[in-house]
Amino acid sequence: MQQFYHSAAWRRLSRRFLENNPVCVKCYEDGVIRKADVVDHVQEVKDNWSRRLDESNLQALCNVHHNAKTRNERKKREQKP
Ligand SMILES: [Zn+2]
Repeated sequence: MQQFYHSAAWRRLSRRFLENNPVCVKCYEDGVIRKADVVDHVQEVKDNWSRRLDESNLQALCNVHHNAKTRNERKKREQKP
């Protein structure tokens, strides 16, 4: 998993994705234009490995929104029996 984030394929894709999507989509929904910091997988890599390089599964997020999402996902996971 961690290895994937260090792979050349992911690094190339995420860099290009941020160039094409420089604004955080969640801030944008709130009417705020903020620079995106990271490329996030809508469906997490560990949940759907096959979509790890699928651009339709990616979204540009700022650090604040990315951290919030990560926290939520963890919570959801912990709530599962
Ligand atoms: Zn944001």
